Amino acid sequence: MPRIAYVNGRYLPIREASVSIEDRGYQFSDGVYEVCEVRAGAIIDERLHLERLRRSLDELRIPLPLSPRALTVIMREIIRRNRVRDGIVYVQMTRGVARRDHAFPPPGTTPSVVVTARSLDTVGNERRAAQGITVITVPETRWARPDIKSISLLPNVLAKQAARERGAAEAWFVDRDGRITEGASTNAWIITKDREVVTRPADNGILRGITRTVLIQVLKTRSLRFEERTFTVAEAYEADEAFATAASQIVMPVVRIDDRMIGDGTPGPVAKSLREAFHAHAERS
Ligand code: PLP
Repeated sequence: MPRIAYVNGRYLPIREASVSIEDRGYQFSDGVYEVCEVRAGAIIDERLHLERLRRSLDELRIPLPLSPRALTVIMREIIRRNRVRDGIVYVQMTRGVARRDHAFPPPGTTPSVVVTARSLDTVGNERRAAQGITVITVPETRWARPDIKSISLLPNVLAKQAARERGAAEAWFVDRDGRITEGASTNAWIITKDREVVTRPADNGILRGITRTVLIQVLKTRSLRFEERTFTVAEAYEADEAFATAASQIVMPVVRIDDRMIGDGTPGPVAKSLREAFHAHAERS
């Protein structure tokens, strides 16, 4: 069965699906994206993801090219046509096709829309979560607005490749003050020695992850202390537990940061229990 993509109004086999070389996404990374988890055929936290998509578009002054309702229909159709039960649905919107010129194209240029979906290896993911992952730290080299979910991901690509080359699954960016911002494709969390759950405040310096937002709600139902504050690499090395969050991974325990073992080197009880609890708090639609 060929994989099917939605591209600017048409459903096409992936091999035939394409955008113009003058698409501003291709020329300038001038676009945004969203990734939602698909679980047992339902979209997880779709409303929050679409709100964030809207915000990213607004920040870049790209008009939403179709109604939110139409987008949700397309997302479902792509999930159905690709027979995805457990996986992800990906939405990308760019400023559209125009003769190459850095400034915005003429008014009326229609933004491009691509939607794809694919299955994820849930068994493999669970196995990884049961073992925990290794992360490396890398200098923060991104622009000043990672809160916008832009398709411009070159520093993230290089960071992820550096992680892979060192046998790690994720890279955590570290700012000039030695504080961890977030991962190349995840938010970063630690649980300190005195049992405080910590993640960096969602200012302009990180993406406000939807998994992060929902997990904060989960934390409010627990008798755990939680603080949004910055934390250093040194503090992370000394943490009892660490974990990463993203829609495609939920709560992924971290058992090693650089060459330092976290806790006893196995996934911590809090990370494990938050992973189990997550979907009871997430919206399904
Ligand atoms: N931070 C970055 C840089 C990301 O790319 C992602 C997800 O792709 C996240 C955090 C996690 O966001 P979410 O929980 O919405 O998937």
